[in-house]
Amino acid sequence: MTKPTEMTGQAANTLSLSVVVPCFNEEESLPELHSRLTAVCESLGRPYELVLVDDGSRDRTWEIIAARAAADPHLHGVRLARNHGHQLALTAGLAAARGERVMMLDADLQDPPELLPQMMAEMDRGYDVVYGKRVRREGETAFKKTTASLFYRIINRLADVDIPVDVGDFRLVNRRVLDAFLAMPERTRFVRGMFAWLGHRQIGVDYIRQPRNFGESKYPLKHMIRFAGDALTGFSVAPLRLATWLAYASLVIAAAVGIYVLWSLIALQTVQGWASILLAVAFFSGIQLLTLGIIGEYLGRLYIESKGRPLFLVAETTAEAAGAHGDPTEPPANGPSQ
Ligand code: UDP
Ligand code: MG
Repeated sequence: MTKPTEMTGQAANTLSLSVVVPCFNEEESLPELHSRLTAVCESLGRPYELVLVDDGSRDRTWEIIAARAAADPHLHGVRLARNHGHQLALTAGLAAARGERVMMLDADLQDPPELLPQMMAEMDRGYDVVYGKRVRREGETAFKKTTASLFYRIINRLADVDIPVDVGDFRLVNRRVLDAFLAMPERTRFVRGMFAWLGHRQIGVDYIRQPRNFGESKYPLKHMIRFAGDALTGFSVAPLRLATWLAYASLVIAAAVGIYVLWSLIALQTVQGWASILLAVAFFSGIQLLTLGIIGEYLGRLYIESKGRPLFLVAETTAEAAGAHGDPTEPPANGPSQ
């Protein structure tokens, strides 16, 4: 499988920090987003860039990004050729980011940029990924809160990897983890799941998810359902196993039906042909489900193979710890592991 070359990251990592923001019809949010991000980044006193990705907006988002980029050398705008959706817009921004550390957040300021210094401090302590954990969600409908809560719990239970509950795409990652993320060639990208899958030292920082500042959610129910489907199928082959479980159940039922049929044949003198038809139906529907289940198992394996993910990721080696291959741009890896 060939790796998409546009996703291999930038070679020269001269910047200390990048902030990546996917924007879809966010013209109203941009001024405040820009000023708050600038204030936070300036306060850190490190060279930084703001990568704003316009995901095929139909409003003035790109004009505003372009005008502000002309005035602010820290701002780097990327305009996608059409709307590709939140997860791909985010991936495009991550691919364009040049920083040693990269923070990603939504344009609507639901994730407060002011959490960045705290996230940076956790990373200084040796963590590779610092994610924002929503302890409360303000200004969202009961429906959104309930479905989101249910979604995170179901996906956590079914996924092959521990995906932290109530954690979105608001996180700070270091270059090592980001490059590993960009090297994952799968095309359906459930970003938060992929970062969970990557492992390394991860920690959460609690925050209260704010109401949307301007405009309305760009995630209608239809998109939320597709997003949940991508999450489930991207990180679990449980749905493909459904046929196998149904087959077991139907074989048990077929056995029970068989006993009943034989009993009625002897005791009740039933109509001729009834017993054989019922037995055949029960038995063969079980067999059909079983073969479907077997196909599902192989398909599941084929699917996992087709994603072409790395088999494992090495966090560090003893040679590295001794300084032989150490990355001088990274803080010492002495933080407690999770
Ligand atoms: N977004 C995007 N492309 C889309 C939909 C959304 O880039 O097709 C961006 C949007 O501008 C925002 C982020 O993704 O920065 C999250 O979207 P939104 O706030 O609408 O989602 P919600 O918070 O309601 O789940
Ligand atoms: Mg939002």
